[in-house]
Amino acid sequence: MAALLSPLGPVSSIMRIVLLGAPGSGKGTQAQRLAQERGMPQISTGDLLRAAVAAGTPLGTRAKAAMDAGRLVEDAIVLGIIAERLGAADVRQGFVLDGFPRNIEQATALDAMLAKLGQPLDAVVLMEVDRTELARRISGRRTCRDCGRVFNVSTAGGSGAPDEACPKEGGPHRLFQRPDDNEHTVAERLKVYEEKTKPLVEFYRGQGLLRAIKAEGSVIEVAKRLDAALGISKRAAVARRHRPPAGALSAPRARNRSTPKRSR
Ligand code: AMP
Repeated sequence: MAALLSPLGPVSSIMRIVLLGAPGSGKGTQAQRLAQERGMPQISTGDLLRAAVAAGTPLGTRAKAAMDAGRLVEDAIVLGIIAERLGAADVRQGFVLDGFPRNIEQATALDAMLAKLGQPLDAVVLMEVDRTELARRISGRRTCRDCGRVFNVSTAGGSGAPDEACPKEGGPHRLFQRPDDNEHTVAERLKVYEEKTKPLVEFYRGQGLLRAIKAEGSVIEVAKRLDAALGISKRAAVARRHRPPAGALSAPRARNRSTPKRSR
């Protein structure tokens, strides 16, 4: 497998990453971006749980009370969801985990699952944001009902979403505010983060996987810091974004390619 050059040493182009950080630290936004740019799945336990709640599955019904209260959903449920997701074929392209693991038990279980798959983690990035900024971001957060993209009314000119069509439905994004993004639940979620999730910083530091970035500033600034922490060069990301999907009829485009072909 070809490797990209990184200040931290060679990094395989297939990456298995965990984004770690408090609610509102921008994990979802950066995970969506990385997934899109690198053609690998974003795996968000929050999204998977919300889908189960919306579908009214027995599992969703069991998870809902904890989610509404800002507590962690029980490990048995979350680990079941993750085990199933990591069994899907697209995970061989690497993955970016967002919102999982959230405690030491989940992290230990994840290590065991990935060891069985022969696909250990490459990096865990801690996204550090000041508490006042977290509260501001969470209160402005809006999600598109159709495509799931996350926007922020405090940074996107007031409307919440840029002037673009929803890639899924074609029309404007239909934004909603998550029910657990309210003041009371957010306080509980931040407390749970401090008590249960923060110990993962030392857990992954001990494994030599931890990298920390300042996750304040614009989405683009944070993206640059995150890419630097992961050893992703901008040119490689652009080349990757313009690469046609495997199996696509790509000859005309390949002939016109103006950027040099680079290693994956
Ligand atoms: P998120 O979208 O990551 O902020 O997650 C929303 C809610 O889903 C959390 O407040 C928890 O109630 C639940 N949740 C998401 N991921 C996990 C996890 N790894 N472990 C337990 N609960 C989770």
